[in-house]
Amino acid sequence: MPPGGPAKDALTIDSGDVAKDCFCGCGRRIPRFPLGMRSMNTRGRQVSERLAWAEDHRSFLENEREFVDWFEEGLGIQTALKAAMHGEVDPATLPERPIRDWQAVGREVQHTVDRAFARWAAEPGKEASPNRTPSRRLSEASTDPPTNESVGLRSSTQP
Ligand SMILES: [Zn+2]
Repeated sequence: MPPGGPAKDALTIDSGDVAKDCFCGCGRRIPRFPLGMRSMNTRGRQVSERLAWAEDHRSFLENEREFVDWFEEGLGIQTALKAAMHGEVDPATLPERPIRDWQAVGREVQHTVDRAFARWAAEPGKEASPNRTPSRRLSEASTDPPTNESVGLRSSTQP
């Protein structure tokens, strides 16, 4: 392993370190002031991680109109947070409530979908390879995989 290689760094980074560097990966340092910049930066990282998860599960979820709406809203939030970190917009003008709401929905969707797949993959005779995407596993399924309905996705995105 190369000294200070990316794998090691990824494991040793804590949220405190991450919050000081722009979440988008541009390397920009996020100042302590104005207050709230770093917590907003942390939020940007959380939103980006959720979007990355969603991208991985897109083939499973893309037929859900609500998921697509949520995903696209997330891309907008990510762009807005990035603009704020880059000083292109005033961070104070970003509405916090919709971002919190978006995160809450995302948490629930991810929790529900991940659990459904974990249950399904744990059944005897299933191969639970982490390298396989859910859609790949779905297409190879010999028994009924989780569906959007059985997962309860529809109700979870209702207010
Ligand atoms: Zn940046």
